[in-house]
Amino acid sequence: MGNILIVAELTQDGAIRDSSFEVVTLARRLAESTGRGTRGLVLGSGVGDVASQFASKGAGETLVADDPALAHYNVEAFNKAIRAAAAAADADVILFANTPTGWDVAPRVAAGLDAAFVSDCFKIEGSETGLTLLRRIFNGKLDAELSVSGTLVATIQPGANDAFEGSTEGGTQPLAVALDGLRAQFVEIKQAEATGIDLSKADIIVSGGRGVGAPEKFGEVIQPLADALGGAMGASRPVVDAGWLDHPYQVGSSGQIVSPKLYVACGISGAIQHLVGMKGSNYVIAINKDPDAPIFEVADIGVVADLFDIVPALTEAVGAAKG
Ligand SMILES: Cc1cc2nc3c(=O)[nH]c(=O)nc-3n(C[C@H](O)[C@H](O)[C@H](O)COP(=O)(O)OP(=O)(O)OC[C@H]3O[C@@H](n4cnc5c(N)ncnc54)[C@H](O)[C@@H]3O)c2cc1C
Repeated sequence: MGNILIVAELTQDGAIRDSSFEVVTLARRLAESTGRGTRGLVLGSGVGDVASQFASKGAGETLVADDPALAHYNVEAFNKAIRAAAAAADADVILFANTPTGWDVAPRVAAGLDAAFVSDCFKIEGSETGLTLLRRIFNGKLDAELSVSGTLVATIQPGANDAFEGSTEGGTQPLAVALDGLRAQFVEIKQAEATGIDLSKADIIVSGGRGVGAPEKFGEVIQPLADALGGAMGASRPVVDAGWLDHPYQVGSSGQIVSPKLYVACGISGAIQHLVGMKGSNYVIAINKDPDAPIFEVADIGVVADLFDIVPALTEAVGAAKG
């Protein structure tokens, strides 16, 4: 049996992402139940201090691939370095957060190691034959169970595990990797243009999901309640994918992370990727006609009803109360 290698992901400011500490939590649980050890990996340029932090915050003995070619994410360089680290750490489980970087590099690492690959799982357990993994499917309505033997590469769903917050033993070790002759080169980072919508600073957000049904209904039903409450409008991902609203309105793991005082979810089922984005809200009101919708599990007030009956009435009541 080998070790578990936890690949840390850094923000553009060089800090370790919370989702990497969530991977640490899952990895430590798996290590404890299967008798494996954990090893960390930090890739970048001038990342010695960050690597020490990762080692002492749960990852354990951490390899540091410190090279100017790793200063910015480059799939070719990262793939080479991660595979070298897997060998150096004697790893048979290699874990990433399920982020755009994880989606991009993890399958290539798996292919290079001839390993099994499972994306977006939220739980991994040891079994008699190998490892059992759970991942959500059909918009979170079902959990799929997968069995894997041999080397495993997996990405872990952000928000599904608490970020590890303890402190542990563990030092760092340099990892030398030959990264000359790369065919892919970093050119520049282009920031998306600011649109004026910054949900992360809003005190009140009224969000609409697929249940709103049509793009014009956002202007007719959702925006008026947001305006009446003096808040901003948000949306779930299918709304943005369908082109009903632009991406800055999207709340969730691949949109904005918000923490308003009040979050009103209208016609939103409450898939984990949406919950990740709004679970820091102080007070949640959910309006959904399905009494079993998972959004009700995080709601302070749940209204089982048609949003087209409730939201306009609420808008009117707020207007009347404000005079
Ligand atoms: C890698 C990845 C990243 C993702 N990132 C995000 C993200 O950032 N944000 C995000 O939101 N999702 C994200 N998703 C998608 C997520 O898994 C769900 O598919 C999505 O959140 C579902 O959106 P929804 O709740 O609007 O739609 P649905 O799941 O279709 O739910 C619609 C809800 O509306 C209700 N409804 C219908 N009509 C009415 C009515 N008249 N009145 C009241 N209720 C009604 C239904 O009962 C249902 O519960 C991501 C998925 C993946 C795989």
